Amino acid sequence: MEANSGIHMMDNSGECHVCGERIEEKYVKQAFWIKGKLIVIERIPAVVCSQCGEKVVKADIGQSIVALLGNVKRQRRARRMTVPVIRFAREVA
Ligand SMILES: [Zn+2]
Repeated sequence: MEANSGIHMMDNSGECHVCGERIEEKYVKQAFWIKGKLIVIERIPAVVCSQCGEKVVKADIGQSIVALLGNVKRQRRARRMTVPVIRFAREVA
């Protein structure tokens, strides 16, 4: 899995690999940057840390994600969403 995807493979410990807290099974939505294109996959079965929000997926789910990210036909059929793109500027909140 891509290092910048923000989602990690599970190590089967039942605990968060970052903070050691309990993890819960949840469906998550995740964005992936693939060759400069942003792809969003929703309803991914994952486990999420109740403490720090770290998301992990099982190895077979990870493989399915990789397959979906490589499935051009599926992506062409997918619905589109628009997102704001903002050029960074130093601003006072
Ligand atoms: Zn955690």
